[in-house]
Amino acid sequence: MLRFVSGWSYEEVLPYYLKSEGSRIRNADYRYHNTDGYLGVDDVYQSPLVEAFIRAGEELGLPHIDYNSPVNSFGVSTVQATVRGGKRSSAARAFLWPIRDRPNLDILTSAFVTKILIDQDTREAYGVKFKRLGKLYKALAKREVILSAGTFNSPQLLMLSGIGPKHHLEELGIPCFQDLPVGQNLHDHLTFPGVSFLMDQDIDLDNQRVLSNISRYIEDSTGPLTSLGGVEGIGYIKTPISTNPQDQPDIELIFVGATLASDYGVATRLGMRIRDDVYDSVFRPVHDRNQWTIFPMLLHPKSIGWLRLRSANPYDRPLLYGNYYTDPGNEDVRTMIAGIRFVQMISDSAAFQRYGSRLNPRPMEGCQHLPFDSDQYWECALRSVSVTLHHQVGTAKMGPPEDPGAVVNNLLQVYGVGRLRVADCSVIPKALSAHTNAPSSMVGEKAADIIKEYWGVTSF
Ligand SMILES: Cc1cc2nc3c(=O)[nH]c(=O)nc-3n(C[C@H](O)[C@H](O)[C@H](O)COP(=O)(O)OP(=O)(O)OC[C@H]3O[C@@H](n4cnc5c(N)ncnc54)[C@H](O)[C@@H]3O)c2cc1C
Repeated sequence: MLRFVSGWSYEEVLPYYLKSEGSRIRNADYRYHNTDGYLGVDDVYQSPLVEAFIRAGEELGLPHIDYNSPVNSFGVSTVQATVRGGKRSSAARAFLWPIRDRPNLDILTSAFVTKILIDQDTREAYGVKFKRLGKLYKALAKREVILSAGTFNSPQLLMLSGIGPKHHLEELGIPCFQDLPVGQNLHDHLTFPGVSFLMDQDIDLDNQRVLSNISRYIEDSTGPLTSLGGVEGIGYIKTPISTNPQDQPDIELIFVGATLASDYGVATRLGMRIRDDVYDSVFRPVHDRNQWTIFPMLLHPKSIGWLRLRSANPYDRPLLYGNYYTDPGNEDVRTMIAGIRFVQMISDSAAFQRYGSRLNPRPMEGCQHLPFDSDQYWECALRSVSVTLHHQVGTAKMGPPEDPGAVVNNLLQVYGVGRLRVADCSVIPKALSAHTNAPSSMVGEKAADIIKEYWGVTSF
């Protein structure tokens, strides 16, 4: 996945994915899955409509694959979820709970790190400053400081500690200790929830059925409430627009047996911050209708963002500039339109036509002046309601010393500062053909081995 960084090729990181995974997936290729790791991976509830998604994919030449095996990059599948026993297998639940009583582990909740402490003479990190319940503390590192505050807050903490672009730090009055391109290179996955289809038959995962299954979920953690917000299937395709390597998909298809309208606009719309007028134009008129959608997700955007400090105050949230759909060739928009066209082909398949699937004909607010379903219309719609899926990476980019964009080396060590590593999604140099939760665990697992090997210990 990080094929350009030594030690981080697919073959080299696979063991770390496997180490963390405790999979129960029914149709998995178990050469590429593990069953006894900490992180629960399971099937979730599937409506009958996901079967139509799989059949439609096959009609269009996409085989039914295990998308987490490298055997085939393109195909369709039911979704594999980080879930155990019908509940989310979060990083805390999977990795921390089982070991929380270890005598050599302290877990501090409500502790907010404000700065990395760096010895100006030795140029080595030796601890962190943090605030907890109104009091300031210093924690001193026995061997080194491992920063794992995520793609937004790791770069923020580095910059607050004087590690970042010199001119930017100086603007804010932060003395620059090490001039590095921290916060540049923000890669993200955009998706589009605005292409949806109506049906004549009631087989979607609609709100009524979800609500009526609360007792089933409480009793044995099964049923529609185990679904990932309605996501039931995943597909990977390569559009004709793609300039990516041959084996690399450019669009992920996220099949949902429902739409933004299925919860009457009370939850998903708010989570995705869809404006009222946009929601009212497309979705409100089809409340109570049978419907489904596929969110096309742009896997390898050409538009790259950045992150800046708002101020030198650690409690001020950093400023994020996604720069979405700004690449000079408009390749990102054209790829998404090609993705929408593929989604329409899925609706036109025999598998979906048996349910009378057809495009929701309501034009989106702000785009009504354009011919409905033209490329111009979809570009307008894409620019109106594309949303992030929060797969941000790259703001403390891993790369070799000759890479001017690199912040950490392949051992996750920050260039120019001793005893300081970063181990989270911020080090992943570019957007992946995958979501980022499992990769963040992989980075953690590999970091643990790197650190143990570096210090010549088998455990801490
Ligand atoms: C709403 C949402 C939905 C998502 N859904 C999916 C999904 O379905 N599938 C998927 O694969 N990925 C998903 N992701 C992405 C995935 O969750 C992230 O990529 C992953 O959690 C990143 O891991 P990380 O360790 O890099 O950072 P994080 O998980 O963000 O961990 C960083 C931690 O550092 C803590 N922290 C930050 N600053 C400080 C500070 N100053 N002091 C102390 N602690 C601090 C934070 O509280 C946090 O606990 C989703 C993300 C979001 C936001």
